[in-house]
Amino acid sequence: MLLVHKYGGTSVGDLERIENVASRIMKASDAGNNIVVVVSAMSGETNKLIDYATHFTTTPAKQEMDMLLSSGERVTAALLAIALQAKGYKAVAMTGRQAGIVTDSVHTYARIKSIDPKAMLDAINDGKIVIVAGFQGINEDGNVTTLGRGGSDLSAVAIAGAINADACEIYSDVDGIYTTDPRIEPKAKKLNTISYDEMLEMASLGAKVLQNRSVELAKKLDVKLYAKSSFSDNEGTLITKESANMEEVLVSGVVLDKNQARVTLRNVSDRPGIAAEIFTKLAEMGINVDMITQNVGIDGSTNLGFTIPQSELDNAKSVIESFDHDIGSMDFDKNLCKVSVVGVGMKSHAGVAAKAFRTLAASNINIQMISTSEIKISVIIDEKYGELAIRILHDAYELDK
Ligand code: ASP
Ligand code: MG
Repeated sequence: MLLVHKYGGTSVGDLERIENVASRIMKASDAGNNIVVVVSAMSGETNKLIDYATHFTTTPAKQEMDMLLSSGERVTAALLAIALQAKGYKAVAMTGRQAGIVTDSVHTYARIKSIDPKAMLDAINDGKIVIVAGFQGINEDGNVTTLGRGGSDLSAVAIAGAINADACEIYSDVDGIYTTDPRIEPKAKKLNTISYDEMLEMASLGAKVLQNRSVELAKKLDVKLYAKSSFSDNEGTLITKESANMEEVLVSGVVLDKNQARVTLRNVSDRPGIAAEIFTKLAEMGINVDMITQNVGIDGSTNLGFTIPQSELDNAKSVIESFDHDIGSMDFDKNLCKVSVVGVGMKSHAGVAAKAFRTLAASNINIQMISTSEIKISVIIDEKYGELAIRILHDAYELDK
């Protein structure tokens, strides 16, 4: 098989761990696989480099930041290749440029535009294990670029797509995706399989495991993704296309998001275009609005409520203040959380939402807002009930079974 392995910062955190990764790759190679390995910088390294730069100024030039930050991954790639060579294996380390990765010119947050996999495939045909420095490419002028934090996952998926790999295995210190956060519910179980869309909805559960953009890209390129641990031989979780038997499982996971705040606007002028103006301005400020509710207007005015990440509350306030004569008053609530029930099975089964509402009601938890999509039900509730809600919902859908 042709495989992409990606090892995160913790997995290559020191020389011993790099040696451990080398052993895993040797095993996969001995089993007859061709392998392209994508590596992150050693854990803490990228932050250390950022600290170095901000010693001089708080606003270092982004082109030079890319020059600086891309070096972290190059160190790991070279060391891993050297470790493999020392064991008698043929290996070659490549920068993003050598691997043929071309991006746009948005320094520190570049998007991959194309990959010419020729050099990687030639090396494989030469019997070499290819080690690519993740998180980087070059723009059309040949300047080095980086792909945003956690971007090595994206490199791995894009390379898997470009070489048409049989699978892309993402190794970290977590052995897969769980039905919920095991720190909240110790009965949480590791999922064998999950669809791309479920994974995206459960982003906060997988956040430590997989970068969201990489899951989106895997879906687009139809790359089979595995989340596995480099510290165990556990099976991991396969993230893949939705299949018919996935729908038999009603719910795959329950997710808690504590970073929620609600903005309530009262006596908003009830005229065409007002929502467009408010939400366009919020979007221009980069504020991510999640749920929105609007009441039926009475006497030319209405109430409008929406949720945003807590960290964006101050920005939202300043946007809303600029609408002073269209909005009567506003208030904010920070002591909220969002609990979501996720599962592709909801598409074809009725009553999944009703069960969530009944379960919360039985514990006297008041639901303040509700939103649903084809595969997700989210409720906004008081922050202090968040963890309880996760446990009783986990139980209600028998996710520990
Ligand atoms: N080293 C980069 C970061 O810390 C990229 C990565 O690890 O994926 O964001
Ligand atoms: Mg990472």
